[in-house]
Amino acid sequence: MKKIAKQSSKPEQCYRCDYPECNKKFTRPYNLKSHKRTHTAEKPFPCQFPGCNRRFARQHDRNRHNKLHSNVKPFSCEYCHKAFARQDALSRHQRVVGAPCSVVALENRKVNRLRK
Ligand SMILES: [Zn+2]
Ligand SMILES: [Zn+2]
Ligand SMILES: [Zn+2]
Repeated sequence: MKKIAKQSSKPEQCYRCDYPECNKKFTRPYNLKSHKRTHTAEKPFPCQFPGCNRRFARQHDRNRHNKLHSNVKPFSCEYCHKAFARQDALSRHQRVVGAPCSVVALENRKVNRLRK
């Protein structure tokens, strides 16, 4: 009986760590697994924001990072580019008489009226 020589031309390093900012590759899944454990051990403070997978070594860093999420302001004033977390805050801002943007808005309205 002949023994078939094992092929040793397998593609190497095909298990990639999907941890943010870490692209280490491993030849065996368990190597990757134990490697990933080092991430969680070094960084025991995960971001609790939904959809965010970031972890931090220090609570202080996590808290600082969390502020980024709470600072998300999708409503921005088209006149002065101030950003607001809520639509009503934005419209209240634009109603403030004397605010640079409300002045601009009034001017624009006048111009539009004159054009008609
Ligand atoms: Zn990694
Ligand atoms: Zn986060
Ligand atoms: Zn504004």
